[in-house]
Amino acid sequence: MSQDVLVINSGSSSIKYQLVDVESGEAIASGIVERIGQETGSVTHTGPDGKTTLEQPIPDHEVGMDLVLRLFADHGPVLDASVLSAVGHRVVQGGDVFSGPALVDDDVEAKIEALSDLAPLHNPPHLAGIRAARHAFPDSPHVAVFDTSFHQTLPPAAYTYAIDQDVARRYAIRRYGFHGTSHLYVSRKTAETLGKPVEDLNIIVLHLGNGASATAVRGGHSVETSMGLTPLEGLVMGTRSGDIDPAVVFHLQRVAGMSTDDIDVLLNRKSGMLGLCGRTDMRDVHAADEAGDETAHLALEVYYHRLKGYVGAYYAQLGHVDAIAFTAGIGENDTEVRAHSLAGLERLGIAVDAERNAVRPKVPTVISPDGAEVTVLVVPTNEELEIARQAVALLG
Ligand code: AMP
Repeated sequence: MSQDVLVINSGSSSIKYQLVDVESGEAIASGIVERIGQETGSVTHTGPDGKTTLEQPIPDHEVGMDLVLRLFADHGPVLDASVLSAVGHRVVQGGDVFSGPALVDDDVEAKIEALSDLAPLHNPPHLAGIRAARHAFPDSPHVAVFDTSFHQTLPPAAYTYAIDQDVARRYAIRRYGFHGTSHLYVSRKTAETLGKPVEDLNIIVLHLGNGASATAVRGGHSVETSMGLTPLEGLVMGTRSGDIDPAVVFHLQRVAGMSTDDIDVLLNRKSGMLGLCGRTDMRDVHAADEAGDETAHLALEVYYHRLKGYVGAYYAQLGHVDAIAFTAGIGENDTEVRAHSLAGLERLGIAVDAERNAVRPKVPTVISPDGAEVTVLVVPTNEELEIARQAVALLG
């Protein structure tokens, strides 16, 4: 049987897709539908013929999926139930309902919909994508893979917020954690690289992309993670503040007269590196810092300071640490972030070798010195492959 899985990540105005060969781990085709619901939309498809772009209005996800089907039919590879073993869907919020992947049926769709209150920006567009894909590929099994599932092993002490527990229960307020598919993939890949069973290892995974989160993984299980009820908590991100005193919200409401929506936009979309120095891309922030921009310099200091604090906290939670793995856009590419965030931690057995760190590797690479107590690695993430693998594993 073929082991090709079409992995779909559907957003409010976009559908990203990748056809993954689970055995080789290779992406056979990929693409993106963009500007759904706007005046003109586009689909860019990369397959055996190279890159093809279509431009036309794309009113909704159904039309977007039809165009994807057409591009596969016209430009390959062939996509039908005989080669497609599953369609895998990324879903951000699975609440405490989904502790693993789920075969999509009407009941699973209803549960994803019911979780929309917790992820109003993510779950509704995921559902639109799932529904469109079920129409487009009615003969293939569809599997939903949740960003939150990996963190369902968090102990109560880690997932419980210290607030009135009646209120917490009534409104499902707890730490859920996100980026779980990446943290799972990277922790396993780290163990594989070290040649040891993941069950025997304590690992801190630092997923540093435009969104960023840290996870403490004990014996293959997530035991602490920095994102919370939503992806706003934790590290400094591209446009999100990460941790702040919640009283900032009341203060802005009372003193600045800002509305709940204004503050939501401020903290989720206008904060982080953007709020600190007007730039979201780390390459731009470093360039500005090197050119003498003091706001960029401070932004980097805040970023490193927060990250180092989480490494220390997770070291304490784990008791001992075998490995620290950097991943995602910044983690995989930014040598400065890796060096500064772990600087001065030699007493904890943590060090980065400057020469080894001067890499942007495509494969897992150790960047700590030989004999270091804690192995520091760069491990490229591959969420699409992990989703595809989970779909295949679920279907047996
Ligand atoms: P992701 O969300 O994982 O796709 O990561 C996107 C972010 O990675 C970008 O916003 C950049 O800040 C960062 N990034 C990508 N390439 C580099 C690079 N060569 N050096 C530093 N940061 C990078």
